[in-house]
Amino acid sequence: MNLEGYTLQLILREIENGSLSPEDVNEFYYKRSVELNSVLNAYITLLEPRSRAEGDLKGIAIAIKDNISTKGIRTTCASKMLENYVPPYDATAVSSLKKHGGSVLGKTNMDEFAMGSSGENSAFGPTRNPLNKEYVTGGSSSGSAAAVAADMAPIALGSDTGGSVRAPASFTGIVGFKPSYGAISRYGLIAYANSLEVIGILGKSVEDVKILFKMIAGKDPMDSTSINVDLKEKNISKPNILVIKSFVELSSEEVKKEFYNSIGKLESAGFGISYVDKFSLTDYMLSSYYTIACAEASTNLSRYDGIRYGPKVESASNWRDYISKARSFFGPEVKARIMMGTFILSAGYYETYYLRALQLRKMIKQEFEKIISGYDAVYVPTMPVLPWKIGKAIEDPKIAYAADVLTVLPNLTGSPAISIPVGKVREFFVGGQFIGLRAEDMKVLKVAAIAENVLQVKKNGRN
Ligand code: GLN
Repeated sequence: MNLEGYTLQLILREIENGSLSPEDVNEFYYKRSVELNSVLNAYITLLEPRSRAEGDLKGIAIAIKDNISTKGIRTTCASKMLENYVPPYDATAVSSLKKHGGSVLGKTNMDEFAMGSSGENSAFGPTRNPLNKEYVTGGSSSGSAAAVAADMAPIALGSDTGGSVRAPASFTGIVGFKPSYGAISRYGLIAYANSLEVIGILGKSVEDVKILFKMIAGKDPMDSTSINVDLKEKNISKPNILVIKSFVELSSEEVKKEFYNSIGKLESAGFGISYVDKFSLTDYMLSSYYTIACAEASTNLSRYDGIRYGPKVESASNWRDYISKARSFFGPEVKARIMMGTFILSAGYYETYYLRALQLRKMIKQEFEKIISGYDAVYVPTMPVLPWKIGKAIEDPKIAYAADVLTVLPNLTGSPAISIPVGKVREFFVGGQFIGLRAEDMKVLKVAAIAENVLQVKKNGRN
């Protein structure tokens, strides 16, 4: 039995009609994962299948990013700091999956503490792109994307603080959905920058991510920032979309060409296409994002002191020595961000940097809400470039920061955004993202499903 290219939708249908058994499905993904993981490094931890064929998910095992807590299963955040950490509880998203009959296939590789855009910043080594093993998968949900793209999992959970679900989805040619802020509970998601991040879903089709989204969305008493978004199907047949030209212009020639090409196809299929030349705050999105993200990271990561969390330090001469040795379990990118964040929040700089970034964020949100009014979604490329060779962003981290320029907007505004493959260059794909207003998740899912059907860039074989 070979399930290459199978969508979750198809698997569930075939289980329903008796042509597949949940045991066979789990066996297939487990075996294939064991076989491919030594090359792709998609999983940090893989679990032997233990199916209970019940619920809507029939016991199917799903890949979970290693910053999402799983009871009794090691959860490392791809860091030496949490190398042996076993959470005593499940994240709400995981317990919801289990309630629907899902199980955990393994914990996926990622940039350490979700800080990165390429999957290169992992203490467990980089994830390799199934489309070309010398290239990055994109990050920080690198392992979740590689696992889905290489048929090592039917579907996966990731997290998206500034693009971490959409970036690797774009680089590996799959679908990546970042829901509205709060639409999926963050309880049990190990915090990096809590005001920006969400749990997201990586799958082979828009329908697949929607199936999972509906199972795990909703207000959760354990997360006071969670909300109920309307989960009813939206009735749209000819979407009206808005293209922000100043975003497209930030992309490489190859990306631009494929992206404009996709617009032509959408237009022929009846999409209403409008253009706006400039989003006036384009130049401030990255600085606002990184200022807020680093500030929040420095506070969120203060708990890793070798006392509350993190490995015990064997010998230390005094308290300062203890803390400094304990903090040395962090990798270089995490340390750099904690230092930047601590500086940004320090007396005298707080107003200059942090407060300004918050003001900018508010202005960005207002401008976005203004330009999107009257449209079903904004449509822009996901990544301005194609995947780069492994090692490049380690040499020059600015490459990774710059690659986030088109993905941070929805995190600053709390909007839903979904990346789907919209073009192809050599062995790689170009991703395009549909962005909506906060809480209009079903609308962007609907628009993306129509676009996916029109473009048919990636025939995932069997739907
Ligand atoms: N690349 C961005 C960062 O490093 C986004 C990461 C993410 O979404 N977790 O902050």
